[in-house]
Amino acid sequence: MVEVDLRGRDITDPNVLAAMLKVPRHEFVTGKNKNLAYADFPLPIGKDQTISQPYIVALMTQSARLQPEDRVLEIGTGSGYQAAVLAEMVKEVYTIEIIEALAADARSDLKRLGYDNVKVKHGDGYQGWEEFAPFNAILLTAATPEIPQPLIDQLKEGGRMVLPLEGMLFQDLVRITKSKGQLKREKITGVRFVPMTGEVRQ
Ligand code: SAH
Repeated sequence: MVEVDLRGRDITDPNVLAAMLKVPRHEFVTGKNKNLAYADFPLPIGKDQTISQPYIVALMTQSARLQPEDRVLEIGTGSGYQAAVLAEMVKEVYTIEIIEALAADARSDLKRLGYDNVKVKHGDGYQGWEEFAPFNAILLTAATPEIPQPLIDQLKEGGRMVLPLEGMLFQDLVRITKSKGQLKREKITGVRFVPMTGEVRQ
């Protein structure tokens, strides 16, 4: 998977490749999906949600330009796989999941696998996690029509936010960089994520 689907494409950051080699993706899926864990496509994790395909996880992680001392917030814990990849690369990971059963499963999987630097919260990620803000990087793994203002506020100066932004028909994976209080937006590629639910739709 790492050699063909990541290195064979445009994943070049050695720290991302090392993290992707290390995290056991099969531990984050169940049943017969375990046999498919290292194929480059999304897989169902129950409750109509999916674990993202490995290439997209790697691409988002690389796009966030992480440093070892970083504190990172993820919105959309899902299986916990992306959080584990982040946890291999940075000091602290905070992740929020709106579906309680998924948050509970991810919390116990991450604990079992020894990811002590990840905190999982059940709730709507719209409001971010004020208690541990500001964050060097924020990843959203559910598509949103707009960037929630609390997340912009909780991004540190110089921080990077990577998210799928909904357009009229498609979603763009974008990187937002905060510099001198201004936001710079760059398109990374076209993607297809499950929608962010909750307050952002009201
Ligand atoms: N990062 C995950 C995949 C995410 S799928 C992984 O590595 O497995 C997107 C997840 O976002 C789903 O689990 C969905 O329930 C969650 N989600 C959707 N809207 C949300 C919100 N407002 N706050 C937090 N989580 C949300």
